[in-house]
Amino acid sequence: MADIPNKARAVIIGGGVSGCSVAYHLAKLGWTDVVLLERKQLTCGTTWHAAGLVGQLRASQNMTRLAKYSADLYSNLEEETGLATGFRQTGSITVGLTDHRKQEILRQAGLARVYGVEVEELSPREVMERYPHLNTDGVTVGAWLPKDGQADPANIALALARGARERGARILEGVKVTGVAVADGRVTGVDWEQGERKGHVATDIVINCAGMWARELGAMSGVSVPLHACEHFYIVTEAIDGLGTMPVLRVPDECAYYKEDAGKMLLGAFEPRAKPWGMEGISEDFCFDQLPEDFDHFEPILEAAVNRMPLLAEAGIHTFFNGPESFTPDDRYYLGEAPELRGYWVAAGYNSIGIVSSGGAGMALAHWLEDGEPPFDLWEVDIRRAQPFQRNRRYLRERVSETLGLLYADHYPNRQPETARGVRRSPVHEHLKAAGAVFGEMAGWERANWFAAPGQEREYRYDWDGQNWFENHRAEHMALREGAGLLDMTSFGKIRVEGRDACAFLDRLCAGRIDVPPGRIVYTQMLNARGGIECDLTVTRLAESAYLLVVPGATLRRDLAWLRRHQQEAAVAIVDVTAAEAVFPLMGPKARDVLAACSPDDFSNAAHPFGTAREIEIGMGLARAHRVTYVGELGWEIYVPTDQAAHVFEALVEAGADRGLKLCGIHAMNSCRLEKAFRHFGHDITDEDHVLEAGLGFAVKTDKGDFIGRDAVLRKKEAGVDRRLMQFRLTEPEHHLHHNEPVLRDGKIVGYLTSGAYGHALGAAIGLGYVPCNRRGERPEEMLNADYAVEIAGRRVATEVSLRAMYDPKSERVKT
Ligand SMILES: Cc1cc2nc3c(=O)[nH]c(=O)nc-3n(C[C@H](O)[C@H](O)[C@H](O)COP(=O)(O)OP(=O)(O)OC[C@H]3O[C@@H](n4cnc5c(N)ncnc54)[C@H](O)[C@@H]3O)c2cc1C
Repeated sequence: MADIPNKARAVIIGGGVSGCSVAYHLAKLGWTDVVLLERKQLTCGTTWHAAGLVGQLRASQNMTRLAKYSADLYSNLEEETGLATGFRQTGSITVGLTDHRKQEILRQAGLARVYGVEVEELSPREVMERYPHLNTDGVTVGAWLPKDGQADPANIALALARGARERGARILEGVKVTGVAVADGRVTGVDWEQGERKGHVATDIVINCAGMWARELGAMSGVSVPLHACEHFYIVTEAIDGLGTMPVLRVPDECAYYKEDAGKMLLGAFEPRAKPWGMEGISEDFCFDQLPEDFDHFEPILEAAVNRMPLLAEAGIHTFFNGPESFTPDDRYYLGEAPELRGYWVAAGYNSIGIVSSGGAGMALAHWLEDGEPPFDLWEVDIRRAQPFQRNRRYLRERVSETLGLLYADHYPNRQPETARGVRRSPVHEHLKAAGAVFGEMAGWERANWFAAPGQEREYRYDWDGQNWFENHRAEHMALREGAGLLDMTSFGKIRVEGRDACAFLDRLCAGRIDVPPGRIVYTQMLNARGGIECDLTVTRLAESAYLLVVPGATLRRDLAWLRRHQQEAAVAIVDVTAAEAVFPLMGPKARDVLAACSPDDFSNAAHPFGTAREIEIGMGLARAHRVTYVGELGWEIYVPTDQAAHVFEALVEAGADRGLKLCGIHAMNSCRLEKAFRHFGHDITDEDHVLEAGLGFAVKTDKGDFIGRDAVLRKKEAGVDRRLMQFRLTEPEHHLHHNEPVLRDGKIVGYLTSGAYGHALGAAIGLGYVPCNRRGERPEEMLNADYAVEIAGRRVATEVSLRAMYDPKSERVKT
């Protein structure tokens, strides 16, 4: 039996491709004192039976960066370790069978070019030339990615393990981790057992790479890793004469992918309703296990496949494979340090792309551990986005039955999940519903995205172009611009920071000046040491030693973790008070009239100026009115204790009844903020984006004394910016922007839109996006003088650009 050390710099739990990659990359960074513990044998969970597709193009730049890294790594691993990884650069083809899918594929091809992934659009004829076995009836388009490939997943993992071992890592099989020891909110070690033997490894860092076991393992330490296994199917045929070497083929409209391997064909499925598995726990003995066949379940996919690939009709089926794989509520994996426990890291939940993802994810995580910060923006896979309630098993069962199929469904803009809805609701949810709200979901919250007119169907008809809610959106947008609109933003994250050191503590974390009189609201960012934006928020001083921080609902847990991580000795309490208050933004030039009709307070500029918060009487209740705006109009955000929320909402609606007040949804709020070029965290601004390049220098007060990120701001000021966030307005009003459309400067692709929506007041689609400077510090006028276009599904549309908000650049409307 191998010796198990009693201490290590890091302990990795799980020896699938994820754990092996983390071990390999940590060892590569010189972390030789690393131990990987695997309960049975390496790859015996999910890794051994993956189909082995290695596709490079993912939904975002950084995910593509990681997938490309994996492909490069795997192509060199064989030479490095001497272990055959079976990596072959076969290329891949994706075909569409509908016009909508054609749009999606053309958009993806455009994006591939932005990300530096080689791609070629194919006509149905060209598809036929490259894949003669395919029945191209109904094929509308194809995309060819020559650098995509396939590999033998188990050997990839074993080669990574060998590479890690050769650099000093200890990789031990047959050792099960039974618990993670904790002291003072930090990991201190892991307990293990090996048959009758039990022991402990002292360590400050554990990395949960336990695949479909990760949820339970995390729960043992109070860490949320919301994922659940689903059955995942493929068949492999007998050898087919004349098949030849073929690229990987995806036919998402038929939920199918095809991989030729050694003269046989593998047909895999992403069926619309998957079968969750292992709800009652996973057998202790699980080791290279398969799940029972379910031919009835697979049959619809096979039927379509036989039509699409007629040679399958003659081929015998050699293997019917069914294996478990973990899926997450949003089809994205989990990476990073868990917000609940210092030193507890996660790399799990790979949603059927763990082979292609793990190479890059392991590299990124290793750098994150080494440097204390991620190498670039990883927010979309950051474990801090997971909500605690999401580890509820019934929720997971319902949601993952849908997310497996969503991987191959059309990735429409604004697409909403259909399952496991309604978990988090505002106190006025039923009011909104009665008024025609069509809801979307964010972090489990139901939010009114738009309001249907009486008699209109209350559903999205998804499309890339015209939206069935376009006119509703216009009416809501224009109500905010010309009259008065009422929103429900109860989903805002609300954090109370209170105590003797509250002011000094926040002053160190925020780039803005926080030592303001009680009642003042400060729009600010929390920066990292690189000047990147960790959080975009408003800070309201409620009293001498009490502040309210309002953050996006999606980033609440991240922001709480950031605050707590920097708390150190500061005498403050940091409390999540999100559920305590509802928030009703009342916005528009008539907002003051509406408020005056339901409140005796004075809302004049003198009594309640912009950037201040006051307690007000409203209806028969009490609330706090914050004079701020995310839509760029006169307005107040009304913060109401949840017990009075319904009453206050009714009072507002009644007061607005003969003043043209309109209920408005998130889509209208989003398009208004885009007209004003207000940034949105996660899209336009991330921890990778320097606050000055994001155009938010006005909110940074370098003269106030030291704060995190100040040096990076001063350095950038001195050196000049490398890129600028610009606002775009299409010159042809019939087009739509959603985000991720390539941006061209003087005919050359230079970036992509980070946000996009239709700006009804500006009369065209509006976007935001970074444009690199031609040289460091390039002057704004030079950048503005160039010709810009945006590419939409292969078509270039000229745009106007601006570095100031195109709508009300002087913010006169806000302060009227
Ligand atoms: C049918 C099918 C086809 C697929 N095709 C592809 C594909 O083409 N391309 C692609 O990229 N991905 C594919 N995947 C997905 C891919 O296989 C997975 O995402 C990946 O293998 C997950 O790796 P992992 O290391 O996270 O999990 P696993 O491989 O499951 O590893 C987790 C390990 O943790 C160990 N463990 C658990 N608990 C403990 C404990 N307490 N102590 C010690 N060890 C523990 C387990 O024994 C296990 O070995 C496919 C999956 C399936 C099912």
